[in-house]
Amino acid sequence: MLRESGAAMVWPALLIVLAMVVALTVMGQPLWCACGSWAPWSDDIHSAHNSQHLVDPYFFTHILHGVLFYALLKLLWPRLALARRFWLALSLEAVWELVENSDLVIDRFRQTTVSMHYHGDSIANSVGDLLACAAGFGAAASLPVWGSVALVLGTELVLYLWIKDSLFLVIWALFFPGKPQ
Ligand SMILES: [Zn+2]
Repeated sequence: MLRESGAAMVWPALLIVLAMVVALTVMGQPLWCACGSWAPWSDDIHSAHNSQHLVDPYFFTHILHGVLFYALLKLLWPRLALARRFWLALSLEAVWELVENSDLVIDRFRQTTVSMHYHGDSIANSVGDLLACAAGFGAAASLPVWGSVALVLGTELVLYLWIKDSLFLVIWALFFPGKPQ
């Protein structure tokens, strides 16, 4: 299904990425981690490198965004062409990145213990998150429902065991700041 539309799907997706990058630049987010290391990966979520390099453990929560957006859009608009649902999912994710980097949400995340150092994502990290969402959407479009459910539960479990955080806990922290688990 994803193959049918091919290149036609790619251009709007790139425009969405570009629009997000421009918006984040206007918001004053840094391009990359201030540490100066070009390592694409940072695995210490308690360090200042978190959310500043291209990929970190939270990358995997954004894969789940893609899976959940796929499920949501499939429920809401089952007849909408897959490409359109894909662009919608990417747009939702781009908007999430902008909201995540707004002062209000940054302050909320800061009040929780895990994200004490949080001062918003770097632009590179937001682009990585968008790619993760696209990958999650693609996985959900190709997997049977039970496969997507297993992907979500498995990722949440591994993340919890690994960094004591997960997509569920991130959302929890957003709504109930200052009440770490
Ligand atoms: Zn760094």
